Amino acid sequence: MSRRGWSLAWMADPGRFQVVFTVLYGIDVAFRVIAGSRFDVLSGPGLGLVGAVVLLVLGVLVPWDRLDPRLTLVLPVGSIAVVGVTRLAPEGGNGLLAVFPALWLGRQFGRFGAVIAGVATVLFLVVPGLIYSEGDSVMVPRVLFIALVVVVTALAIADGMEQVRVHSGTIEHQRRVSQAIFDTVDVGLLLLDRDGHYVGMNRRHQEFMALGYPQGHSGQAGQLGEVFDVDARTLMASDRMPAHRASLGEEFDDVRMWIGEDPAARRALSVSARTVRSEDGAFAGAALAYTDVTDFMRALQVKDEFVALVSHELRTPLTSIVGYVQLLEEDSTMPPHAVEQLHVVHRNAERLRRLIGDLLDTAQRDGSPMPITRSPSDLAGIVLDSVEAARPVADSAGIELVLSAPPRLPMSMDAQRIAQVVDNLVSNAIKYTEPGGRVTVQLGTDGDWVEVQVADTGIGIAPDDCERLFTRFFRTKDAARRAVAGAGLGLSITKDIVESHGGRIDVVSAVGQGSVFRVRMPR
Ligand code: ADP
Repeated sequence: MSRRGWSLAWMADPGRFQVVFTVLYGIDVAFRVIAGSRFDVLSGPGLGLVGAVVLLVLGVLVPWDRLDPRLTLVLPVGSIAVVGVTRLAPEGGNGLLAVFPALWLGRQFGRFGAVIAGVATVLFLVVPGLIYSEGDSVMVPRVLFIALVVVVTALAIADGMEQVRVHSGTIEHQRRVSQAIFDTVDVGLLLLDRDGHYVGMNRRHQEFMALGYPQGHSGQAGQLGEVFDVDARTLMASDRMPAHRASLGEEFDDVRMWIGEDPAARRALSVSARTVRSEDGAFAGAALAYTDVTDFMRALQVKDEFVALVSHELRTPLTSIVGYVQLLEEDSTMPPHAVEQLHVVHRNAERLRRLIGDLLDTAQRDGSPMPITRSPSDLAGIVLDSVEAARPVADSAGIELVLSAPPRLPMSMDAQRIAQVVDNLVSNAIKYTEPGGRVTVQLGTDGDWVEVQVADTGIGIAPDDCERLFTRFFRTKDAARRAVAGAGLGLSITKDIVESHGGRIDVVSAVGQGSVFRVRMPR
């Protein structure tokens, strides 16, 4: 049974109160008759019964809710009078029945009601009782005792009600404060129940909803609308919607999306979700926060477009520089010292070209997967070429470069991109290893997987940095401090390429001892 079933809430209705009182009163009278008391209309109980019925009719028929609430005092005061009249029978009456109207008075009118209950009890029970008992040593204390019980009861309930009022006042205040915070923050807030129904949102989120769902929203997570993926073009599928994912119990941060059809008015949002659990730990719903990141996303877009444009413009003249340098290098009439200087120009131009290629790769894709074109190729050949191309640099840096690979390893892949992966890992290993160190490249298979491992005995990477290594432009402090050239793009591109092939890259490293980069791809 619910807690409400036991409450005194029904007392607020005068009709119901009077019905219950009359029933109790009737039971009392019935017991008297059964016990053999004389009963006629002019006796105390008879008059009392008439009074009780009159009050019952009043209680039920009068539209109390439309009248001044103080008028309802007639009912409990009348009921106390009825109890008083009943006690005029020779055998006395059940004075404790007065507790009942006293409860009602205390509950409905607080301390004022308790005072009224006290006055009515004195008037209708105590005074007639004292007169009637003529100083009887048993009757006098009994009458006073009943009056005491009635007043204490009324006061107790009045006090209880006062506490409830104060408590609910505090709760109401807290609710208003929370609502004010909810509506003031500049973040859209959405609450879901465990079935994914919208149960609350703040003003900010209502604005987002109007933009994302101009036709209206049913209040159930996952509805399709003017909601787009991070590319601002693909309509977001229902099962990718943050609210839908949160309604399945998923927690996440910084899921980005665009809302709104009109490209000029469109907003970018970053969404986080946390689950709400009940006391027993069961999933009870979710809370989502939507932050407007439009300016940030537009700035990123502008930056990427700028980088792409500049890199593209740089690449064209650089290609012709490399071409002419190559021609001069092959020119047999060139004096040897000039050829040597041309080699330096060539090497640096190549480095510049690789850097520009990386910048273009990064800028052009705005977070979308790396596009690849697969064709049957030989991974062993690619790894061998990479290692041999890096050998002169390793030799001049005094680093031993070791390769262990099978003679052939056919696999369908984007050969140019995979070569970029191996080049990046091997050149990093050489770059970040001191002279006298060793770089070992291993190629092997493991069931349906191929594995390329590049291990070095170099400077190593701190555990905290390992997690961020594959994000764009990240460089460890150690790398920057040692002034090793680099832009922090190679590993993020490497990761994208590996993942586009369905593979994974990870790193195990210890500072000062070296690092092992491992790439695993399905064949
Ligand atoms: P960079 O052009 O700076 O080498 P990468 O994306 O290839 O860019 O690498 C990111 C950072 O990771 C590097 O700046 C360096 O701090 C660290 N790193 C990469 N490979 C190694 C390695 N083999 N040993 C130690 N640190 C490495």
